[in-house]
This record gives sequence, structure tokens and C-alpha cells, in this order.
Amino acid sequence: MAPMTPTALDDLLDSLVSAALAGERPTREQLLEVLRAPDEDVLDVVAAASRVRRRFFGRRVKLNYLVNMKSGLCPEDCGYCSQRLGSTSEIMKYSWISSDEAVQDATRAVAAGARRVCLVASGRGPSDRDIDRVSATVSAIKEATSDVEVCVCLGLLKPGQAERLSEVGADAYNHNLNTSEQNYGDICTTHGFDDRVQTVEHAKQGGLSPCSGAIFGMGESDDDIVDVAFALRELDPDSVPVNFLIPFDGTPLAGRWELTPLRCLRILAVFRFMFPDSEVRASGGREIHLRTLQPLALHIANAIFLGDYLTSEGQAGEGDLAMIADAGFVVEGAEDDADAAPAARHDLVAVRRRGLGSSLPANT
Ligand code: SF4
Repeated sequence: MAPMTPTALDDLLDSLVSAALAGERPTREQLLEVLRAPDEDVLDVVAAASRVRRRFFGRRVKLNYLVNMKSGLCPEDCGYCSQRLGSTSEIMKYSWISSDEAVQDATRAVAAGARRVCLVASGRGPSDRDIDRVSATVSAIKEATSDVEVCVCLGLLKPGQAERLSEVGADAYNHNLNTSEQNYGDICTTHGFDDRVQTVEHAKQGGLSPCSGAIFGMGESDDDIVDVAFALRELDPDSVPVNFLIPFDGTPLAGRWELTPLRCLRILAVFRFMFPDSEVRASGGREIHLRTLQPLALHIANAIFLGDYLTSEGQAGEGDLAMIADAGFVVEGAEDDADAAPAARHDLVAVRRRGLGSSLPANT
């Protein structure tokens, strides 16, 4: 297919912005064109998505924080996951942490600016005893910190389990579709796409705010990206994590590096046009795939995870906060400090002691 002319791309982006601001769905062909936009036009795509983001979220960035309550040793075989059956990734493996540990971790994150804490555990799905345990933790976090949202992510739900979490004050449930229905069998064989859809439906029926997104960089085509975006829209999620594959050694997708920073921005823009007023979160893998372009992602997404992921380290929390401030955004909940001058960063000024005039090699 011939690339679009600059004028045709401008028209497409104007029409996507108008539709998004009116709450209308983009068409499949429009989203495919966004994914095909040439590298030299990606800033135009970002600017268009940014108009939508600004209308609904201003310059706020919501910080989410992951609490990994149970790590590794999962019986499922999701190919992208370092905790999967047969994974030889050298990750930390542990059984349930105590409620006290979870509360301490969550409280520190809230003090650092997190508005939502996500309680996550590996596994196919929770037993009723697991629901008891997590319910106690949800209640304890709600008691210890005011004004924090608690999201729970425990895998496939059975009927009635969402209701129990909702009764103790959980706000949301995360369960991602991850990839298109067509592609699903290539990334997991122990459960199916329909199982995942059903769990999001259980969460909604149980009164929990649905959080569901996807992972990219797993061999999917542009059509797969658009397919999963449409499948997610059918579920009407309140928040949509957009993950980029972290290719762990010891998993089937080890060594797979197929994303570029510009492709990540196009994918994020697709999700902003599809979910104009939902929380779109630049999630796992943003540091390693967006790299120096991370701040541009903030013009499209209105949320990120603060700090580390479940089994891999993220950018330092301080680095996240500095990036948000430097790019002219403000952490949700800290709007009052938005125009405060930054703290002095003496650590950033280093006297040169290498290259000319020294016996050390130059910085090249
Ligand atoms: S994504 Fe969840 S269900 Fe799949 S292997 Fe990892 S921990 Fe298990």
C-alpha cells in the first residue's frame, strides 16, 4: 500500500481527533493508517493524540504502583511471562507475602505519589482462600492510607469472587487480553482468549472497575493490534495498560526485540484514539522500548507505573517524577505543587576530569 501524503495524514489525524472528542469510535482502516505513519510524521501523530489526552486529562499523570504478592511458579504457560510454567528466568520466587508487608510497600508508594496500588499474584486464578487473604490486605491498605485506589490482579475469576473483593473495598480488577484472539494460541495454551474476556466480565458484574490492556512486541501484526484494541473496546475498560514485551531470558520470547520507540508511540496513539477518556497507561517495558522518547509517551498516555514491575526493575522512582516534571506534566493528586520550582540538583553538575588536559580518554 502506498504511504499517505502529508495532507492525507493531516486530514486523517484531524478526523481521528474530532471523532475521539465526540466519543466516536475510529475505524479499523484509520487505526491501521496510524500504525503505518512514516517515521518522519510520528510527531504529528503524537500531537494529535495529545490533543485528545489534554481534553480529558489536562497535564495530569496518574501513578500506579505494583505490589507483587506472590512471585513465580505459575502453572500457566503465557510465553511472555517470566513466572510461567518452565521459566528458567532468574527472577525472585516467593509465596504470599504478609498483609503487613504489602501495606508497608503500598504506603511508601502512596507517599511517593501513587494514586492506585495494584495487588498482583501469579497463578491461574485465586482460590477462595486466596480471596480471603487478598481481601484482608485490601482492607488493611484502605485503613492505612486515605484516598488510594486498590486494584487486584489474581488471574481468572470464578463467579462471585469479584463481588467479595468489591465488598471489602477493592476498586478495580486487572486482567489483560494481551493480544488478538487470532494470535492468542501462539502465546498461551493453558487458557484461552475467551477465558480472559469472561474474567473481565465477571469483574464488571461484581462491581469492580475493569482494567484490561495488551502487550506488544510478541510478533503481532498491525491487524492484531487493531483487533485487540477493538476487542478491548467491547469490554469498555476504565483503564487500559499498554505493555511492551520485556523479553526475559528463560522464556520462549527471550531475545525478541521488534519494537522501536517510534512504533511504541504509534501503538499508544492507536489506544488513545480508541479510548479517548479512559486511562491509557504506558506500562511494562516503556523504559527499554521507548528509551529516550519516554517523555513523548506522556503526551499520549495519562498514566504510568511508578518504579519497578513484577519481576524486573523499572526506572528509579525519582527518575519517573523528574521526567514528569521536566516534560511539563504534574502527578495526579499533587496539582498544588505543579508550579513549584524544582529542587536543586547538585548531583547533575559534574566537573570534567577526562579528555583534553587529563590523562584519561575523552567521552566519545
Ligand atoms: S501471565 Fe499470569 S497466568 Fe500467565 S504465566 Fe504469568 S503469572 Fe501465570
